[in-house]
Amino acid sequence: MHYFMGIDLGGTKIKAVVIDEQGTVLMERKTSTHAHLGKEVVITRIVDLVLGVQKAFEYPVSAVGVTVPGVINMKQGTIELMPNFPGEWKGVALEKLLKDILKLPVYMLNDARAATYCEKKFGVARNYNHFVSLIIGTGVGGGIVHDGQLLLGSRGTAGELGHQVVVQNGLLCGCGNRGCLETVASGLAITTSAYRYIKQGIATSMCDMVQGDLNKITPEMVDQAASKGDEAALEIIKSVAAYICKAILNLKAILNPEAVILGGGVAQSDLLVQLIKQELEQHKVLLPDSVGEIDIIQSKFHDLSGAIGAAAWAINLTKKNSNEEKQMIIDVRNSKQR
Ligand SMILES: [Zn+2]
Repeated sequence: MHYFMGIDLGGTKIKAVVIDEQGTVLMERKTSTHAHLGKEVVITRIVDLVLGVQKAFEYPVSAVGVTVPGVINMKQGTIELMPNFPGEWKGVALEKLLKDILKLPVYMLNDARAATYCEKKFGVARNYNHFVSLIIGTGVGGGIVHDGQLLLGSRGTAGELGHQVVVQNGLLCGCGNRGCLETVASGLAITTSAYRYIKQGIATSMCDMVQGDLNKITPEMVDQAASKGDEAALEIIKSVAAYICKAILNLKAILNPEAVILGGGVAQSDLLVQLIKQELEQHKVLLPDSVGEIDIIQSKFHDLSGAIGAAAWAINLTKKNSNEEKQMIIDVRNSKQR
């Protein structure tokens, strides 16, 4: 039996899991990221977590998958952009760095792509060969599975679905563009809207829920208020649903997916998912019949899909590398026999 570790690097927490090849989670740990202390501290914390888990787990792990909440150059194994991490991360060869310290194969993948891969291998998308996922948390991540494979594009950055432009001349996004889906349909967009409503003095139960302390506003709280019929909160969630619907229609026209998987903390809201479905019903387009209907499905992984997906990615690349090695040995033998 082989075991694999998955590390999910987040802005506040680093999560670790050990899984077997069937995706069973055998160990789970987490630690604080301390991102504000800079990259050396963060990298040390990743290493300490891996070593700690390896020590506590009875058997050696074969490889480690690591997610990064940013843009990765997958050909070079380097980080291109980490918008929410202070310090200079551009060009950091995290994959090689960790490999050298840990003396283990290490494979890096964007966090939302890892969550998407997790759904394909062990989650609600196991039976779909063509699907997209929208990971709605503080920001909006995404991933595309085409023909059963994770679509990575020329440099490995395909699937940045949160950065499709849905508002002309909209708000400035962390990526530098304006009007991205992330600016109007993320957890941050929800709390910002609620903040604005309360500041404007609009009558809403959200004001009492945070007892006047606007720092206490969370997307879950807005969702709770909306579910109880608060009009302002409901307007916010409806607006998010409308933009997600717009994004799904774009993806439907471009990719013809069988399903859309909604993951991330914000997508745990049953109200939001219901409103997205209602909105889609109202936008039935007359594309050819072959485009068909799309299944809209909520992820069941809560917050471990990134870590499990990272480990699953390590399984995938370990197998791929071992097959390539076997093929090389066969090729060498054949050439010697000739
Ligand atoms: Zn953007």
